Amino acid sequence: MTENSIPPPLSLVCEVTHRCPLHCVYCSNPLVMQGQDAELPTEVWIKVFGEAAKLGVAHLHLTGGEPLARHDIIDLVRAGREAGLYINMITSAVGLNKGRLQALADAGLDHIQLSLQDAEEDLANRWAGARAHSKKLEMAELIKTESRLAFTVNIVVHRQNLDRLEKMIALAESMMPQRIEIAHVQYYGWALKNRDLLLPTREQLDSSIRVLHEAQKRLSGRIHLQAVLPDYYARYPKACVGGWGQQLLLIDPAGQALPCHSAGLIPGMTFDNVRDHDLSWIWYKSSAFERFRGDDWMQDPCRSCDRKTIDFGGCRCQAMQILGDPYATDPACSLSPHHDELVAIAAAASEKSSDMVYRILSAPTTESTPFLY
Ligand code: SF4
Ligand code: SF4
Repeated sequence: MTENSIPPPLSLVCEVTHRCPLHCVYCSNPLVMQGQDAELPTEVWIKVFGEAAKLGVAHLHLTGGEPLARHDIIDLVRAGREAGLYINMITSAVGLNKGRLQALADAGLDHIQLSLQDAEEDLANRWAGARAHSKKLEMAELIKTESRLAFTVNIVVHRQNLDRLEKMIALAESMMPQRIEIAHVQYYGWALKNRDLLLPTREQLDSSIRVLHEAQKRLSGRIHLQAVLPDYYARYPKACVGGWGQQLLLIDPAGQALPCHSAGLIPGMTFDNVRDHDLSWIWYKSSAFERFRGDDWMQDPCRSCDRKTIDFGGCRCQAMQILGDPYATDPACSLSPHHDELVAIAAAASEKSSDMVYRILSAPTTESTPFLY
C-alpha cells in the first residue's frame, strides 16, 4: 500500500505500565511482561501524544496493566488533553480515590472504563486474584457523581460467570454508566493459558444471548448495552483491530509500537520504538505495520472472498496460535479449512477443568497488593 492510501490511525492505545494490583485469569497481556525499570518516562509519553495528534489520532486509550499504578498519570492525562486527544482510561479503579478522580477530571480525562469480574464479591475476587471488588463498588459510586466523565462498565464474561449475567448487568446498571459492555474473554496471553477453564459452552452462550436481548430492551434509551461475542462460536471472525495497520496503534510500556497487543507472538516481527522514531514514520513505514496491511499477504479462501474488506481475514495472532501460520484464514471463520479444529477445541474445553493460572508480572513491584489465591 502507498502512504496516500493508508488512513491515519483512529486510536492510540498506550499500555503505560504492565504493573497491576490484580492478577486476572483472563488477562490478555503477554506472558512475559515489562517491569517498572523498562517503562517509558513521562517526557517520552508526552512526545508521543503530540506526535499522535499531528498524525491524526482522535482517541487516546490509557491502559496497562493498571494505568493508575503510574505516579505521573495526572500529568499524562493533562498532556493528552493539551495535545487535543479524547482520553479514555481503562482501569480496575484500584489506586483511585476522590482526590485523584477529581484531579483526573481537572486534567482533562473524558471517559473512564471500569471492569467488573462477577456479581458476587468472593467470586469476583477469585477471578481477579485480588480483593478488588468492594473497592470497585466504592469507586463506581464516586465516578457516577463526577459529571465531567463519561462512564462505561465493562463486564468480562466466561464459563465461570456467564450463568450470572443477569445479576452482573443489574449490578452494572446500579452504577448508572452511559454504557455497559459485555466482553467475552479473548484468548490471548494469560487467557489462552486458562482457556479450558474459561471457554463457555454453546448452551451458556445461547442462554446469555437471550439475557442480553432482554436487558437491551429494558435499558433502551437509558444505557447503551453492547456485547462482544466469543469468536470460537462465530460464523465469521472479528475484524481484528479494525484491520492490521488501519485504525489502531499500540505502544507497550517500554515504547515498542505494535499493530495489536498480541503481535509479539508472530515470528519474525520487529517492533520499532517510539524512543527512536517518530510515530508517523512508525505508522507509515515500519515493517511491523506493513506486514499484513492490504490483502497481498492473503491466502485462499480469504484472497478470493468478498468479505475480505469487512473482516480482513480475521485475527493474525489467532491464526498463528491455533494453526502455527499467521498468513492462514482465521480458524474462527466457518470458511476456513481448519474451522472444525477450533470448534473441537471449544467442545473439548467445556468438558475439562484445569487449575487457574494467575497473571503475575515476572518482576514483582512494591505496588502490588497481596496475592489472594
Ligand atoms: S490483571 Fe486484570 S486488571 Fe490487570 S491488566 Fe490484566 S485484565 Fe486488566
Ligand atoms: S474467508 Fe477470510 S475474508 Fe472470507 S469471511 Fe472468512 S476470514 Fe473473512
